[in-house]
Amino acid sequence: MENRMIALLELTPHPDRSVAVLGGLLLLCCGVRWRLRWLQASPRTSDPWEAALNEAVQGDDAVPLCHRCLAPHDPQAHFCHDCGAAVGSYTNWLPFPQLFSVGHILRVGTDGRFKHSPLTISGFIFLSIAEYHLFAPIYWFLFFRGITPSSNGVRPAEHA
Ligand SMILES: [Zn+2]
Repeated sequence: MENRMIALLELTPHPDRSVAVLGGLLLLCCGVRWRLRWLQASPRTSDPWEAALNEAVQGDDAVPLCHRCLAPHDPQAHFCHDCGAAVGSYTNWLPFPQLFSVGHILRVGTDGRFKHSPLTISGFIFLSIAEYHLFAPIYWFLFFRGITPSSNGVRPAEHA
């Protein structure tokens, strides 16, 4: 067995890299196994909320809140009156209101008030390419101006 491993390592062009890859795969397999065991051992609950809270949320007198600013809004409203986010159940499926919803999302990108992560930044870049095509670089200028701190360390959106 040991001779086979040595022979295998001699056949590969970079045996040290192969050992590192095998070690990484072994650690990955151990991590996945540990995660699966942790998931199987965790207690299973069908509903993480208390029953009273669930009844309050499902009640007839419950007021829906905006997912972005937590302002209460009319259940029939398509957009939040405070921040402009799409709050209707079917707003993003309706052809005309969908335009305003996409516009709101792109405006959020330019004001810089969102969680900055590689996923959100690449999402704004791809969405702007899909929406603006040749004019996307204009959006990118406004986008990166919004997320880049100015010389005094304050983002432009924080001045307002
Ligand atoms: Zn809102």
